[in-house]
Amino acid sequence: MKFVSYWHDTAPVFAGGVKGPVEGHYDAAVIGGGFTGLAAARQLAKGGAKVVVLEAERVGWGASGRNGGHLNNGLAHSYLAAKAELGKERAIALYRALDDSVDTIEALVAEEGIDCNFRRAGKLKLASKPQHFEAIARNFEAVHAEVDPDTALLSAADLKSEIGSPFHGAMLSRKSAMMHMGRYAAGLAMAAVRHGAVIHESAAVTHHKQTGKGHDLTTARGRISADNVLVATGAYTTPNFSYFRRRIISVGSFIIATRPLSDAEIGATMPSNRTCVTSMNIGNYFRLSPDKRLIFGGRARFSATSDQRSDAKSGQILRASLAAIFPQLAKVEIDYCWGGLVDMTKDRFPRAGYHDGVWYAMGYSGHGAQLSTQLGMIMADAMLGREDRNPMKGFEWPPIPGYSGKPWFLPMVGLYYKALDRVK
Ligand SMILES: Cc1cc2nc3c(=O)[nH]c(=O)nc-3n(C[C@H](O)[C@H](O)[C@H](O)COP(=O)(O)OP(=O)(O)OC[C@H]3O[C@@H](n4cnc5c(N)ncnc54)[C@H](O)[C@@H]3O)c2cc1C
Repeated sequence: MKFVSYWHDTAPVFAGGVKGPVEGHYDAAVIGGGFTGLAAARQLAKGGAKVVVLEAERVGWGASGRNGGHLNNGLAHSYLAAKAELGKERAIALYRALDDSVDTIEALVAEEGIDCNFRRAGKLKLASKPQHFEAIARNFEAVHAEVDPDTALLSAADLKSEIGSPFHGAMLSRKSAMMHMGRYAAGLAMAAVRHGAVIHESAAVTHHKQTGKGHDLTTARGRISADNVLVATGAYTTPNFSYFRRRIISVGSFIIATRPLSDAEIGATMPSNRTCVTSMNIGNYFRLSPDKRLIFGGRARFSATSDQRSDAKSGQILRASLAAIFPQLAKVEIDYCWGGLVDMTKDRFPRAGYHDGVWYAMGYSGHGAQLSTQLGMIMADAMLGREDRNPMKGFEWPPIPGYSGKPWFLPMVGLYYKALDRVK
C-alpha cells in the first residue's frame, strides 16, 4: 500500500515552476498554489497583471491534491439549515455560487484543454437511517422548488439500480461532477504559466511586511515585493498569518483507494458511477476513479494531523466502514491511503474578502474543490478592479474564542458527533 495521494501519484508532474531565485516586483503575489491560488493567478495574468505564486511545497500539494474528487453543485449545509441561518436570499446566492463553480471549472477545463476526466456524474446524498431520509426529503422539497430543479428524490427501491448497499433513499443532484484532482491542479498551473504567471515551488513565505506602497514577502529562496497580496493557504496556513490561523480550524480527513475493480464488482456496488456521500455526522464519501478504483473517504477520527501514522490509523477505520457499506468488497486490496487537512470555519461558511491590506479566500469547510476555483477568480477580478462578485461579501468573521491555531477541542467534537450518530 502506498501512503500517498492517488491524485498525486497518477498526475503529470508540473514542470513549469521557476528554479531561479525568488526576486522582483509584481502587481500581485499569490501565497499558496492550490486551486484558489492557481485560479487567481491565471485570472490575474489573463487580466494583464504581473503575478507570482509562492508555494511552500509543490502546486496542488495541499487539500487540492488530496481530496475526495467530488465537485458538488450545492452547499456543505443542508439548504434548509443555510436558509435558517442566512435568510433565503443569501442561502440562494451561496448555493448559486457553488453551482456556478462547477460550470466555471467545466468551461475552464475546455478552454485550457486540461485532460482531467471532468464528468457531470451526479451526486447521491444517501440516507443512512430512515429518519435521515425524512430530513433529506424535507431539504429536497425546498432545494427543488427554490434553487435547483435538477434534483430528484430517490426511494430505497429507486436506489437499487444506483448502488449495491441498502440505504434508505437519497437526494440526487444531477449537476454535480467529478474529476481527477491531480491532473486538474497540474493543468491549471500550466495554464497560469501560459498566461504569464510566475510560479515558485518550495518557496514558503516566512515573513510578510506591509510597506507604505505595498508588501514585502520573504522566502528561503529570496524575496519579492508586490502591490497586492492574496492569501490562499487554506488549512495549511502558517502561524505567521495569525489573523487567519485564529479563524480557520484545520481538521484531518482521510481516504483509501482500492485496487481497480472488475466490471462485475462495479456492477454489484457502484453501477451508476456517481459521487456518494452518507448522511451520518461522521460519514463517508466515495466515488470511482478513472481507472475504476473505489476512492473512499471520511473524517474517520477527529484528528488535527495528517502524517503516515495518523493516516494509517484512519485507513483501518475507513476499511471497516467500506466493508460495512459494501460487504462484497470486505477483502479487497487497498492500494492507497492518505490524508489531508480541511479548512473549516466555525459556521462552515467560506470566507473571502480584503482585510488589513491583504486579499483572501479560504474556509471552504470540505466543499472547496469547486468553490476554490470560482472564489480564486472572483478575488482576482476584485484585485484587478473589476466588478465585485464576491458571494461572501458582508459575512462577518470574528476569531474563534480561546483558539490560536491548535484545535485542542477536536477530540471532544468527535465524541459529540459520535454520540449524535448513535441516537439520531
Ligand atoms: C481529504 C480531503 C477530502 C476532501 N474532499 C473534498 C471533496 O470531495 N469535494 C470538495 O469540494 N472539497 C473537498 N475537500 C476540500 C478541498 O480540497 C479544499 O477546500 C480545496 O482544495 C482548498 O483549496 P485551496 O487552494 O484553498 O487550499 P490548498 O489546496 O490547501 O492549498 C493551500 C496551499 O498553500 C500552501 N501554503 C501554506 N502556507 C504557505 C506559506 N506560508 N507560503 C507559501 N505557501 C503556503 C500549502 O503548501 C498549500 O499547497 C477535501 C479536503 C481534504 C483534505
